[in-house]
Amino acid sequence: MDLGNVRIVLVGPLYGGNVGSVCRAMSNTGITDLVIADPRPLNMLEARMMACHADPILQARQTSDTLAEAVADCGLVIGTSARRGLYRQHAQTPREWTPTILEACATGKVALVFGREDKGLSNEELALCTHIVQIPTTDESMSINLAQAVMICCYELFVASGSYESPEEKSGEAPSELRERMFGLWREMMLDVGFMEPDKADHMMMGLRRILGRGVHTLDDVKIMMGIARQAQWASGASEKRQEGGRRKAEVSER
Ligand code: SAH
Repeated sequence: MDLGNVRIVLVGPLYGGNVGSVCRAMSNTGITDLVIADPRPLNMLEARMMACHADPILQARQTSDTLAEAVADCGLVIGTSARRGLYRQHAQTPREWTPTILEACATGKVALVFGREDKGLSNEELALCTHIVQIPTTDESMSINLAQAVMICCYELFVASGSYESPEEKSGEAPSELRERMFGLWREMMLDVGFMEPDKADHMMMGLRRILGRGVHTLDDVKIMMGIARQAQWASGASEKRQEGGRRKAEVSER
């Protein structure tokens, strides 16, 4: 889902660096509507530096004298607060509010409101909010950096909006026959390099099967493990010795 209806409202931010970092977090998560309410003078050099590739969001920011003006056209107004207690009993985590926010986004504007670095949101500003978000932290350190708080909220919305698809494993499962060849090769190699004695081989192989069984499953995985075994055999000179001595033929490299 498109997050075009999400507006980030910063109330009276103090530091240009934070405003720039907020723009960057917004850009990372596909949110572009930024309003600064109750503005204070900002170090714009710092803001541009921290915004990086998100400078267009910084340039396009709107300002308004009050929070009421900044959210006038928004349905849901989600306030964020580090503090607990009075007026904040209905606070939930960003993840808990996310479905409500996404649903509202489908039909209208939703504001996510963040307070001042030095004193957060006033009670009057909090009263304008329909919902309160509290990002979980330790009791000893509840106040999160402004831009990081914005990032956590935007990230939750971004992931839940389905905008992101996690990478899929492209290599299919290796068939049992190939896996068994891999174990055969490892058995040979571990004998060749002197890692185990022939009488311990069965026991050691059970251990190796257990270890590799936890992670080595795909065709690519198995091919890599076979490559390692072949290279170790080659480096130990075992396959040459075998050919010279006319003992077991080193079929390994032809497999
Ligand atoms: N000293 C301020 C904290 C300001 S931190 C106070 O006592 O309120 C700046 C802003 O980041 C906060 O107003 C809030 O919008 C957001 N923020 C910081 N920590 C947060 C948390 N744990 N949960 C939700 N929002 C948080």
